[in-house]
Order: sequence, then C-alpha cells, then structure tokens
Amino acid sequence: MRFGMDFGGTNLKAGVFNEAGESIVFEQTPLRSHMQGDLLDNLIVYALRLTGGYDITAGGLAIKGLVDSKAGRVVEDVGEGNLLAGADLRGAFRRALGVPFAVENDARAYAWGEWCFGAGQGTEVMACLTLGTGVGGAVVTHGAPYIGADPLGGILGGHLTIDRNGPPCPCGSRGCLELFCSATAFRARVEEAHPELAGNIGDTLSLGATLPAFFEAVRDQGTTYQATLDAYLDDLAFGVINIIHAFGPDMVVLGGGVMNSADCILPGLIERVDAGAWTVPRGRVDIAAAALGNRAASLGVAFHPSLDGHAESRGSEPHESLF
Ligand SMILES: [Zn+2]
Repeated sequence: MRFGMDFGGTNLKAGVFNEAGESIVFEQTPLRSHMQGDLLDNLIVYALRLTGGYDITAGGLAIKGLVDSKAGRVVEDVGEGNLLAGADLRGAFRRALGVPFAVENDARAYAWGEWCFGAGQGTEVMACLTLGTGVGGAVVTHGAPYIGADPLGGILGGHLTIDRNGPPCPCGSRGCLELFCSATAFRARVEEAHPELAGNIGDTLSLGATLPAFFEAVRDQGTTYQATLDAYLDDLAFGVINIIHAFGPDMVVLGGGVMNSADCILPGLIERVDAGAWTVPRGRVDIAAAALGNRAASLGVAFHPSLDGHAESRGSEPHESLF
C-alpha cells in the first residue's frame, strides 16, 4: 500500500492506494481545518490516522509552489504554503511513517498520476494543464517527469504569455495564460459578462456556483452565452498550442474543475488547436480531459519515480483506467 497527500490551494486530499493505483481510502478536507496550531504536525498526525492499520511501503506529499523534489522541501511559495517553505518535509514524514517518502510539486505529481493511471497512459510525451485556482502545468517525457535545469522545468504552463499587452503577472512577465484561463479568471469573465449567473458573494472557491451555472446555460441556450465561452476557448487554445509547439506531445491532458464540463470545452478547443498547432500530420495531438479527478496528484506522488523503479514500465503497457 502507498500513501499520497495533496496540499492544494483550497483543499487537502489524501489517500491510501494499492499497487494497482486503486483507492483504499481517500478523503478531501478543507485546508483551513488543518491550520490550527503547527501545520506540519497536523499534517503528520492526519497522515498517521489515515494510514493506521495499513501496511504502507512508500508515501509522498504533492504541494503547490516551487518544490525541490531532490531535497524534499518547498523552496518558495506564496500564501498558506509559505508555512511549510524551508521545512524538511520529506524527513519529517519519513521519520513519522517509517517509509521512503517523496515531495513533489502538485502539478507535476498530477501529471505523473494521469500518466501512470489516468488519461495519459501509454503516451510517449504527455503535457498536462490544470485549470484551477491558477493554471498548473507539467510534462512527462519518455516515462519520466520533465524537471528542467531548476525545479520549475515544465510546470510554468500557466505563465506562457498569450497577450503581450495583457496585465502584469506576479511571475514577472505579463499577459500570462493563468490570468485569463484559470477557473478563477474564467469565473470573473463570466460574472462580468453575465452578472445574473454570479455565485454567492463571499464564496471563495474558485469555481463557486458560477461556472456550473454558466455551463448549464451554454447547454440550454447556447447563443446567449456562446460568445463568452468562445472567447475563453480562444485564449485557452493559445496556451495549448504554445505547449504543443514547445514539447511536441502525443497528448495534452486538461484537468481541474472546469473540465467537469469537458463536453462544452473540448470540441471547440480541439477545433482551434488543430487549426493553430503545427504538427505532422496536423491534428496529431490528442486533447483529453483528465481521468482521475481530485486523486491524480495524491496518486502521482504516492508512485513518484524516486520511490522505486515500480513505475518505470507503466508507459509501455496501457491498461484500463481504474477509476
Ligand atoms: Zn505569469
């Protein structure tokens, strides 16, 4: 059995998985319910409770921010993850659980999970974008997560510029994909164009009620809302095309709550990407919705390649999705 925990922007997700990647236990809890007192102590107590009674052989923590997976710690982050920056996370969990432990950026863990057990199984090069609080990205090439010369390699898909005249971004550049295409940004676009669909005031979830209501409205009365969706898809397509031009993947996997409405997103997105991405032959790259939902990052880090050679052979033998 393996243990995986995903410390995200809003929620903590954690589970125990068997060697086939099936969930034995899986829980999602609000991050704020773990914030009283010492955060790291709380996470460890929670991990011990969740894994109690199971024979755990390896574990991992997926976490937002700039993660040095070799050192097993967060180097830098903004917001609540800051509380864990600099701490020896891998050492603390390894001592507490008594098993090899991996720490990885959440988007990279998400992509690895989708490649091992989800939509990306069997692909040679898979790129992944998660449309959530921000836009996460990661790439798996030839059976290994792409890392780059510093820990940010491949994970900055949200910071591809799609508008040189766009607003400045905290990353230092401007007009980044994330500013237009995260679930948060999409929600703001919808609420500006269609105030009647706005979710509850004070709702801090990135999706809230607005986007589900919007997609329902698109399905019911397309013409009124289609222009807003089209503008979003135009922007998202630039991001996907840039990713394809950079990495030449077989597949781009899109995840995050927005993809619960993949039926509204994918047809228009595929049409735009096929028209704009230079591949041989044109239209070669599959654009697919993620298959593992909120489990992908926990699962990915639980089977992190640093833990053993277990995942090495997975890419060559695609198998049925287990979820
Ligand atoms: Zn940026």
